[in-house]
Amino acid sequence: RGPLLRVENLTKHYPLGAGLLKKTIPVVRAVEDVSFSVEAGETLCIVGESGCGKSTVARLLMRLVEPTAGRVLIEGTDIAGLKKHALRGFRRRMQMVFQDPYSSLNPRLTAGQIITEPVENFERLKRRRRQALAADLLRKVGLSPEMMHRLPSELSGGQRQRLGIARALALEPSLIIADEAVSALDVSVQAQILNLLMNLQEQMGIAFIFISHDLRVVEHIGHRVAVMYLGRIVELAPCKTLFAKPVHPYTEALLAAAPVPDPTRVRLEAPVKGEVPSPINPPSGCAFHPRCPLAVERCRTEIPPLVPMADGRLVACHVRAPAAEILTEPAAAVT
Ligand code: SF4
Ligand code: MG
Repeated sequence: RGPLLRVENLTKHYPLGAGLLKKTIPVVRAVEDVSFSVEAGETLCIVGESGCGKSTVARLLMRLVEPTAGRVLIEGTDIAGLKKHALRGFRRRMQMVFQDPYSSLNPRLTAGQIITEPVENFERLKRRRRQALAADLLRKVGLSPEMMHRLPSELSGGQRQRLGIARALALEPSLIIADEAVSALDVSVQAQILNLLMNLQEQMGIAFIFISHDLRVVEHIGHRVAVMYLGRIVELAPCKTLFAKPVHPYTEALLAAAPVPDPTRVRLEAPVKGEVPSPINPPSGCAFHPRCPLAVERCRTEIPPLVPMADGRLVACHVRAPAAEILTEPAAAVT
């Protein structure tokens, strides 16, 4: 059996505006040649600064936008080739949880209506069946069944995010994409929601793609982590490996910039210097070169490929992942 989800060379360019002079229209290179896979029941985290393309990856996976190039396969089936009906079937297996549960929840519906709505899009439920389903979903996310009569405005931020998760669970998906799902919450509430997600994964075997700008959160929840910079994955590694020793200079800088809760862990370097360049006109070669302390001449002209290292991680860096480190055999089960 192959992976649950496989993403191959996914690319998304957005033309800025449209007109007659097509050749001169600037293009936002939101996602460039991104490949990874997700196994059933695992959590893959995607991290990076805002504008690095991580939300666009999520939207491409959900097919909310069409890719410029590349493929998305679910259990080996290319979802681009699916007709409407089959696509609907596949879609219910992938659900999404958003950053702001308030704006993504209909304020006029009760909690019970909100979380049973995805099921009602497929089949009409009788009142008793709907209530039983709502109670069951609320219990799964640690809310009391009486809450089904409340409106989103009557709930706290953490309760609303639990509601967003309950709605995502309604169709019993095999994969949930959580885009900055805890970023708007207080740190203590964040921990509760992360624990909830981890418990759900353990009980139901759900896979997660957990998108965040916060490495501290990722370390807690992820099995593997993909670091994105300006539309590309620059490092992809098991969480333990990455946090023990980042290899890509950008990962290193991100880790150094994250708050260190453990005082015995030494900060590696100063936080990432400079602004993220615009994806409209990204720097040539390695897009990180204007901010990279290790940049050499080659970095300005050649895009570093993502290559497997001896310890099984993938790194795109001319200096830290040079040709000598490249294995002749493809890395096992990393992508
Ligand atoms: Fe830095 Fe060059 Fe590596 Fe890019 S390829 S991260 S610029 S050393
Ligand atoms: Mg985003």
